[in-house]
Amino acid sequence: MSQSKPTLVVGGGMSGISTALELSELGLPVILVERSPFLGGKVAAFNKYFPKLCPPTCGLEINYKRLRKAANITLHTQARVTRVEGGPGDYSVTIEVEPRFVNDRCTACGACAEACASEREDDFNQSLAKTKAIYLSSPMAYPRRYVLDKEACDEGDLAKIQEACKYGAVDLEEEGSVLTESVGAIVWATGFSPYDASRVEYLGRGELPDVINNLQMERLADKTGPTGGKLLRPSDGKEVTSVAFVQCAGSRDLKHLAYCSGICCLASLKQISYVREAAPDAKVYMFHIDVRAGKYEQFYARIQADEGVEIVKGKVAGIFQEGDSLRLQVEDIESGEAIKVDVDMAVLATGMVPNTQDLPFEASTDDYGFLMMDESKGIIPTGCVRRPADVATVVQDATGAAMRALCQE
Ligand SMILES: Cc1cc2nc3c(=O)[nH]c(=O)nc-3n(C[C@H](O)[C@H](O)[C@H](O)COP(=O)(O)OP(=O)(O)OC[C@H]3O[C@@H](n4cnc5c(N)ncnc54)[C@H](O)[C@@H]3O)c2cc1C
Repeated sequence: MSQSKPTLVVGGGMSGISTALELSELGLPVILVERSPFLGGKVAAFNKYFPKLCPPTCGLEINYKRLRKAANITLHTQARVTRVEGGPGDYSVTIEVEPRFVNDRCTACGACAEACASEREDDFNQSLAKTKAIYLSSPMAYPRRYVLDKEACDEGDLAKIQEACKYGAVDLEEEGSVLTESVGAIVWATGFSPYDASRVEYLGRGELPDVINNLQMERLADKTGPTGGKLLRPSDGKEVTSVAFVQCAGSRDLKHLAYCSGICCLASLKQISYVREAAPDAKVYMFHIDVRAGKYEQFYARIQADEGVEIVKGKVAGIFQEGDSLRLQVEDIESGEAIKVDVDMAVLATGMVPNTQDLPFEASTDDYGFLMMDESKGIIPTGCVRRPADVATVVQDATGAAMRALCQE
């Protein structure tokens, strides 16, 4: 079981971070590759965790602290694995790293962003806002080092940014690099993306600004998000007084995602509590086929008991703009009636689509595209790229992946 070669962990969300830390704390070297400039994956953008409703700082901050101490983890952000050859115990991989244009002299003081007028779409805030072209994703970003989107920045701003940094951290000439590494095991932890609900024709086709998805709702409710945690309607900034949560937005539908992602009901129940806290007078609806709360049944019961929340077993058949409001047409399954409900905003509970695009190896997947362990190549899938799951489950999964990696030497 002695492993001299490092393990390559691809994906720096909760699954990848947990796997890397498990191995590192056993004294084993790890190369952690994340495609975005910051770690944390979806969890970094949550307002709160279910079921305890604590902030994600609970789990992530502890992991970041452990990462800071882990001298045997080599982290590459803005990086992708483009070639995998060999097999368990002896892989050769190519990693392509994009330039960050900000070196490790950065103290995250923010002077560069103050000097910068150019903006870019804020992907961390799920496109609900813009950021400066030089930015940190959030106050708890890891690594705590700015990143420059050079293409989004005009020439005049580039000079101002460089001048504003008194530490000489802005390096406009930085070039990308291509690394070849020899690794003993590979853990694939690239997570999921939300299903593109604009493909669901009866849910607004992505054309109604006040129809958002559940990841956008996390940012809207967060005090560090684009509205400072106020529930403001994306179209006109009006305070939201009624919200509808639409379950199975594309899920359990043979034309879209045939499977249940398992966590969307819990995510909506959690987000209902955001609305009730931020706007206690707001009316909240949840339309579902059936609520799947799994081991968190008590959490569901708590939300159900709230008089301001109407949980309706009903399938949403259409969402339309009706004057100032959104109109939802719902087939009420219990009464058998077609009902109409007008709200300020609708939140689509979109399911999880595994991030398995552009894999640099021939993948084995299940019927729904989730990555399976491939015995010939030996690449170990973990977390939501393997199956939809909550954070507690993916952390357990990560321990299993670390053990498997250990055994591959
Ligand atoms: C709206 C919503 C709310 C939720 N709320 C909760 C909650 O309150 N409590 C809870 O327990 N669970 C919750 N979940 C589930 C939680 O999001 C997942 O359990 C968790 O994000 C899984 O982590 P992961 O690392 O597997 O995937 P991700 O979080 O998706 O992370 C994957 C990482 O891999 C990176 N990556 C992707 N492709 C590549 C590539 N090719 N190369 C390198 N890196 C790559 C991504 O940038 C990302 O950093 C929620 C899910 C949703 C959708």
